[in-house]
Amino acid sequence: MARVAIGIDLGGTKILGGIVDSEGRILAERRRPTPAQEGPEAVLMAVRAVVDELLAVTKKAPDGDPLEVIGLGLGIPGPVDAERGISRFSPNLPGFSNTPILPAFADLGLPLAMQNDVRCHAWGERCFGAGRSIDDLLLVTIGTGIGSGIILGGKLYTGGSGMAGEIGHIQLVTDGPLCGCGNRGCLEAIASGPAIGRRAQAAGLGASARALFDRAHAGDPEAGALLEEIAADLGRGLATAVNILNPGRLLLGGGVVAVGELLLGPVRRHYEAALMPVVRGYCPLLPAHLVEEAGVVGAAALHLATATVRS
Ligand SMILES: [Zn+2]
Repeated sequence: MARVAIGIDLGGTKILGGIVDSEGRILAERRRPTPAQEGPEAVLMAVRAVVDELLAVTKKAPDGDPLEVIGLGLGIPGPVDAERGISRFSPNLPGFSNTPILPAFADLGLPLAMQNDVRCHAWGERCFGAGRSIDDLLLVTIGTGIGSGIILGGKLYTGGSGMAGEIGHIQLVTDGPLCGCGNRGCLEAIASGPAIGRRAQAAGLGASARALFDRAHAGDPEAGALLEEIAADLGRGLATAVNILNPGRLLLGGGVVAVGELLLGPVRRHYEAALMPVVRGYCPLLPAHLVEEAGVVGAAALHLATATVRS
């Protein structure tokens, strides 16, 4: 009987769910929009509906090989208390405030696990992606925000109160732009997707990060210079984290990174330059392997591999 787990990636706009096998392959996928404005109860009911649909698929036993569901893993945006199964709050899910998540699934009789979505992504990379066999790994996602997941000694590291990995809130600029966390000049406030868009706009170089990248790609020297500045900020932030953690590999994921080497090339250069010389060249910066499916695979991987959390 093939062992599978169900992974859920709860996002601000859509819920993605999948049946994932022990090799990290998605055997079936279901999705539906997140009724975020209707509040936590409606959101959890929608998640439950996706889970029920996937469980129904596992019972059909394609080709006579029944699937044994060994657990349900949930990736939740924002800070979570994984042990108690609580979402502390979530910027894109109004009303989520110390909201219990796991009771909505307790009657299934399955082992349950939940974790922050970026931590799930990191664990998915460690188990099935670009971090396979790397015991000390840092995954940084650059999108609407900047977050990270840390693997230390082959285990997901979540910290004393579950908040480890908030690389987006390294303060790089004194009196810089206001950040969503309440401080100023954080990496996230100057180099996330929306922040890049604001910098492009202020410089008259387009209305979004995408527009800036397009101009830089087309050879516009001013856009290229701003991209270089942004890459320097990212490089310094990444090097700060790598100098502290000394991982064997640094993975970059998230929507902004999808632009590819246009951004990764300069970021890599500034990152290497900002590392302590003694560790330079040790920790390569690579694109993450899992993309849209990262959250689903990572959440399922909480059950498929020994995701013992070390804090
Ligand atoms: Zn911040």
